[in-house]
Formats: sequence, C-alpha cells, structure tokens
Amino acid sequence: MDDPDHGVTGAGQGPFVVSHPCPACRGQGTTDGQPCPTCHGTGVQRFFHGTKADLKPGDLIEPGRSPNFGRRERTTSYVYLTGTLDAAVWGAKLAIGEGPGRIYIVEPTGPIEDDANLTDKKFPGNPTKSYRTRQPLRVTGEVTDWQGHSPEDLRAMRDHLELLKRQGVEPIDD
Ligand SMILES: [Zn+2]
Repeated sequence: MDDPDHGVTGAGQGPFVVSHPCPACRGQGTTDGQPCPTCHGTGVQRFFHGTKADLKPGDLIEPGRSPNFGRRERTTSYVYLTGTLDAAVWGAKLAIGEGPGRIYIVEPTGPIEDDANLTDKKFPGNPTKSYRTRQPLRVTGEVTDWQGHSPEDLRAMRDHLELLKRQGVEPIDD
C-alpha cells in the first residue's frame, strides 16, 4: 500500500510506527503490485498484543474472552493484534482488569484481517496496523521496555471512547 506518511497520522493518536517491517517487501505490504506473500499484505513482520493478562511464551490467546473495549458482558469472537507498539500500548493500558498492562509478541495461527474498529472510519487505510483473527494468537515473547502513555493521553483516549459510545459507535465484533 502506498503510505507516504510512513504510518504517521496527524490525529495525535501516536506515531504508529511499525517496529519490525516485513523484510521481503520492506514494510510496503506489496511486491510487484501483489500482496506480499511473506507478510500476507500487512507489511508487518512482528505482531503485538496488549493485555492485562499474565502470559508466557507458548501460551495461546484465544477468542471468546471478554473484549478489551465496549460492552463488557459480551464476549468477542476475535482476538486483536497490531504491528505497532503504540497501538499495543493502548490495548494494554485500556484493557479491562488491574495492573500496569503487558505487551506480548504474538504469532497468528490462522488468517488475519483488518481490525474494522480502527480502519476506514477512524484511520483510513489501517495506519495503526491493527488486525483481528478468529484463531488463537501464540505468545512468543514479551516486550518489557515499552513506554506507557502519559495520564493526559490516557484520559484523552478514554474520553474519546466515551464520546464514541455516546454517539452509538460500538466496537464491531461481528
Ligand atoms: Zn511483506
């Protein structure tokens, strides 16, 4: 995909830089005009999942648990992953539960698709490199040196989510 801004958005939501671009297509997601077979068109080599769960390498993160956002009584049929640490930080910080949040390096075990919550409407073209899958994610490691967002950033994001909820925009799970 043509991405002249290199994943940088002007929306003040963070830089959303892919930490490990796919080496086969240099993060472009395409080779010779076709989706890159190495990264399945994502341009991402390494994926992250932000959560408050305590996991270890080899664990599977399965769909069907409580979603991080939205109506808490509903379970989700997807698990979410992202190629940018910044999006994973949001996932970790805003996940339901206590504690500081964690970011794991994950591998999808099945097909992935664009996260409909973060593409087209809010961020055209999926600059946050956020995806979802109905298959489990396998934990391969943990990112331990990430920087959290400031309390001001977190408050702004929560306010934004509250505003969306009042406007009737719910996270899309199906
Ligand atoms: Zn690639």
